[in-house]
Amino acid sequence: MRTILLWMARNPSLQRRIPRLAFVRRATRRFMPGEDVAAALVAADALVARGQGVLLTRLGENLTSLAEADAVAAHYHAVLDACRTRPRPIEPSVKPTQLGLDLDAEATFAHCDSLARHAADVGSWLWLDMESSPYVEPTLVLYERLRALHPNVGICLQAYLRRTPADVRRLLPIGPGIRLVKGAYDEPAAIAYRTRAEVSAAYQTLAVWLAEAARDGGVRVGLGTHDVDLVRRIAMFADAAGVPRAKLEVHMLYGIRAAELRRLQADGFPACTLVAYGVSWYPWYMRRLAERPANVLFALRQILP
Ligand SMILES: Cc1cc2nc3c(=O)[nH]c(=O)nc-3n(C[C@H](O)[C@H](O)[C@H](O)COP(=O)(O)OP(=O)(O)OC[C@H]3O[C@@H](n4cnc5c(N)ncnc54)[C@H](O)[C@@H]3O)c2cc1C
Repeated sequence: MRTILLWMARNPSLQRRIPRLAFVRRATRRFMPGEDVAAALVAADALVARGQGVLLTRLGENLTSLAEADAVAAHYHAVLDACRTRPRPIEPSVKPTQLGLDLDAEATFAHCDSLARHAADVGSWLWLDMESSPYVEPTLVLYERLRALHPNVGICLQAYLRRTPADVRRLLPIGPGIRLVKGAYDEPAAIAYRTRAEVSAAYQTLAVWLAEAARDGGVRVGLGTHDVDLVRRIAMFADAAGVPRAKLEVHMLYGIRAAELRRLQADGFPACTLVAYGVSWYPWYMRRLAERPANVLFALRQILP
């Protein structure tokens, strides 16, 4: 089921057709407050009022012209401007291909550089999402260039990739912000762990390592997972290693396990919710379905009156 859904996420013909189906649009509401930024900001304000941080992502990836990347960057600058009147700055989380990484790495760097500077002006951060495996090395290179200029930039690393321990070793000396996730794409066994047990074990080892680095200073860590048992296990090791809970942020996606996130927040973990919005939600939404096939039943139930 996961493989089929991830294939559907990449299929261009389905990408054109499925978003037109009204019941699918209704089902996306579970994971997205709406398609426009106004709806995302209303959701963000409610989360901030509950003491949570908010990451904001406008959905879209793999652009075909640099003009589209310019428009995406302008959109995120407007979001950062909107932070000026808010009690807690929102942190944009961007896909490098949405800023043109496929087309012109220099233009992508220039956009990220200017967004990171703007984020610093309003007390915010800029996060780089991690896409499928061909983009990992270019995204790391982009991140290293940005981190050399800005302390307020973070990157997502995927625990399912066999290379990730080496990437953590590579980034730790530059004082990174790292959001650790399991990984959402269909990667071959030669480069990625494929079973749930292997991915969770890799995640736990990396997370404990990052927690210890956060304790020693200069590293910001976000556990980007809804796997609450795994977070609790990591917290046990972190407690034993003297890592203050305030150093272990937990990041979850809007609409998934919100009550559990609030419980972790009450237990002293800083909580952040990533709010996604936008009209280009199809591949992102299919990846959410692939993470939990029970979501397909939820989507199908939307057909019923
Ligand atoms: C803040 C954040 C940012 C992310 N950024 C990236 C990124 O940049 N690149 C990338 O490759 N991946 C990203 N991901 C996705 C990530 O890689 C996983 O695919 C996703 O989080 C599912 O794995 P899990 O850790 O939640 O654990 P799982 O073991 O998949 O899930 C644990 C439990 O959480 C619940 N759950 C998980 N997913 C869903 C869902 N879709 N619907 C309903 N319930 C669910 C279920 O109850 C499940 O049993 C991000 C995830 C988060 C939370």
